[in-house]
Amino acid sequence: MLAIRSARLFDGVADQLRPRPLVLVDGGRIADVDVTGADPPEGAELVDLGDATLLPGLIDSHAHLVLDASSDPVGHLADTSDEALLADCRARARAALAAGITTLRDLGDRRFVTLRLRQELAAHPERGPQLLVSGPPVTTPGGHCWFLGGEAAGVEGVRAAVRALAARGVDVVKVMVSGGNLTPGSVMWRSQYGPAQLRAAAEEAHRAGLAVTGHAHGAQGIAEAVAAGFDGIEHGGFLTADGVVQDPAVVDQLAARGVVVSVTAAQNRPLGQPPPGMEPGSDLARRFEQIAKLLKAGVAGVLRLRAAGVPLTMSSDAGIGPQKPHDVLPWGPRVMTSSGFSGAEALRAVTSVAADACQVGDRKGRIAPGYDADLLAVAGDPLTDANAVREVVAVFRAGHRVR
Ligand SMILES: [Zn+2]
Repeated sequence: MLAIRSARLFDGVADQLRPRPLVLVDGGRIADVDVTGADPPEGAELVDLGDATLLPGLIDSHAHLVLDASSDPVGHLADTSDEALLADCRARARAALAAGITTLRDLGDRRFVTLRLRQELAAHPERGPQLLVSGPPVTTPGGHCWFLGGEAAGVEGVRAAVRALAARGVDVVKVMVSGGNLTPGSVMWRSQYGPAQLRAAAEEAHRAGLAVTGHAHGAQGIAEAVAAGFDGIEHGGFLTADGVVQDPAVVDQLAARGVVVSVTAAQNRPLGQPPPGMEPGSDLARRFEQIAKLLKAGVAGVLRLRAAGVPLTMSSDAGIGPQKPHDVLPWGPRVMTSSGFSGAEALRAVTSVAADACQVGDRKGRIAPGYDADLLAVAGDPLTDANAVREVVAVFRAGHRVR
């Protein structure tokens, strides 16, 4: 048994830190959380982390291990064999874990490489986060991220695609409800499918016992996905050809049904600041400018979702560009607090709320008896200074100290 002592504890939920916790770990799980100042039980190995804050391991509910976080991730992916890709994904997973990301939901695979890695890491949890994977996202022929291999047309085609994913053993189904910025020719706010196809996707996923989440930048797509019974919305920007337009009725529906909106805004520089070395007039510059403008309007939109009571997670979309390496999630809480969220809200968005969004809220995202011993210790007080989340002191995955 391991007894982990630190100066402070954020349990994943509470608005306040608790002083001088002692977290007991047995068999990869949390056995007990003592805050009475008691000595460790006899025979337990004491790990004293000193002046650190212990928090649940972070959960990135939206990342892409197959994308390389360069300025041309799609081009590089096309040039990479599956074996090389698996090795790349392995290294990216390891980097994520070292930053304290102990659970990573991958929402964009090619040829099920992430399922192979999931199996590897299940046998060796100290080598990477717990992976939850969607496999290739379901998309229209030639639609957003078609190159990942998940093309499906029509109601029957969508049903068959979701059944095939479930048979492969994915953890969640991802559907490209609207277009996306990463795919040439795709329009971010335009819906790809119709209501009947989206209903079919949700029905088949739920029949297989899986949640379904929709990549949806567009206001129309968000409305259609909610009406179809989707469990989550990725990005959730409510974009139209005329900017951000939120239909209050749709926002109310999201809140009433508890549909989680995954705000993919974690990045390693302030929102709207261009990447270093970006050449004016380049493809990257054009793409960046478009995103930066939408992000600004998006922040106001996200604050309205918060006011309406829509559950929000902070995630990364890691891999899609240089500002989003695979260990970028710890920057996310700072993005939130600089946008008007409290420190506790920002930490919940990468722990307990993210766990619930990934359907693992019964064993991840909280420091409580029975939960997986996935832990992050950081210097300072991450509740009052979100930058502290990046001051890593220690990382534990399933009870193994990995840093
Ligand atoms: Zn994505």
